[in-house]
Amino acid sequence: MSVSIDLTGAERPGNASPAAVQDRTSLLGLSRDALGARLRDIGVPDKQVRMRVGQLWHWLYVRGVTDFSVMANVSRDLRTALAERHEIARPEIVEEQISVDGTRKWLFRFPARGAGRPVEIETVYIPEEGRGTLCVSSQVGCTLTCTFCHTGTQRLVRNLTEGEIVGQILTARERLGDLPHADTPIGAIVPNEGRLVSNIVMMGMGEPLYNFDNVKEALAVASDGDGLALSRRRITLSTSGVVPMIPRTGEEMGVMLAISLHAVRDELRDVLVPINKKYPLEELLAACRAYPGLSNARRITFEYVMLKGVNDSLADARELVRLLKGIPAKINLIPFNPWPGTDYECSDWDQIERFADLVNDAGYASPIRTPRGRDIFAACGQLKSESERMKKADRLALAAAVAG
Ligand code: SAH
Ligand code: SF4
Repeated sequence: MSVSIDLTGAERPGNASPAAVQDRTSLLGLSRDALGARLRDIGVPDKQVRMRVGQLWHWLYVRGVTDFSVMANVSRDLRTALAERHEIARPEIVEEQISVDGTRKWLFRFPARGAGRPVEIETVYIPEEGRGTLCVSSQVGCTLTCTFCHTGTQRLVRNLTEGEIVGQILTARERLGDLPHADTPIGAIVPNEGRLVSNIVMMGMGEPLYNFDNVKEALAVASDGDGLALSRRRITLSTSGVVPMIPRTGEEMGVMLAISLHAVRDELRDVLVPINKKYPLEELLAACRAYPGLSNARRITFEYVMLKGVNDSLADARELVRLLKGIPAKINLIPFNPWPGTDYECSDWDQIERFADLVNDAGYASPIRTPRGRDIFAACGQLKSESERMKKADRLALAAAVAG
């Protein structure tokens, strides 16, 4: 049995009520320069700004606090001034589900922006031997309409801000007990060893390259060595193939790249991943070949969902090998995760193994991604939120079908 905890309305110490903080702006996700500008605005003298930014950075990202009043080495006056104008906005946790396999999924709610409505997104934590990966969302829903993906059927879409992206990481760490103990000395850095969240994948809801600037800011914060300190090699960004943004991803973000390939012929990819009509395979693979910093130790991951009778033939596998020739690549075979209303089926296990063997024999690592958290709908492509969430009864029925 998976466990589901409804946390709506749960007390979050240090967080003022949403009504009270409406006019305050969040400091999460801002670059050091932007944070410095906020400090200047509330009267911090120029010569102190750098030092104050360093202090705030420590509290926000090493300690993960949500309340200015605990920032012991920041003067009382400055704490008061900060609290008057700003907040450390974390998402509200609407629901937390824990799978039988230890995977956790959170439904997070963010307040309305402008004339919009409050939005909900999902974030997933996948514990594995020796590491733990957080699957982070970049948008509410997705404007793209990949036919096998549940997120693609969600209508409400907006970009998440850099603060909302970083907020997912901090809140997940807090819920997992992955933040340093309260008596950690000021100035300590996040240790590399023993972290529960050791890796980040931008593989939640949304197309991260359609929200480039905010994702870039958020990942710069996540990889800052004095803060969350997640190395860029432990951060992977997955795209459906927004070709014009791929070079900039390499140059400006420097993170690992994953491509949602899923088909090796344009006719089929046009259907499965419709952005292919705009940026066909040839252009996509050329952008991959040119991705900066590729080597055997820094390979591009190609994701390939296994759809029965659609893209899983051995001829497809051979064509895949031919297409990827010359690109340092790893192929992640993803058994299709079903969702209510889909017409696709997952390939038979034998076929997935035959496909994997062929690709592997050609010299490419081709792990089959074990579906994680299927019982709580946390697996790839099952994320969907807001009003369109499945009714509980449907969810239980589908969970029983998946488990059975
Ligand atoms: N929008 C980005 C990031 C999402 S990553 C992208 O598409 O790359 C999520 C991965 O899971 C993508 O490779 C996506 O194609 C894949 N996926 C989507 N629906 C799926 C499903 N039902 N079963 C298995 N994988 C799926
Ligand atoms: Fe969007 Fe990625 Fe789903 Fe396609 S696979 S609809 S790009 S989230």
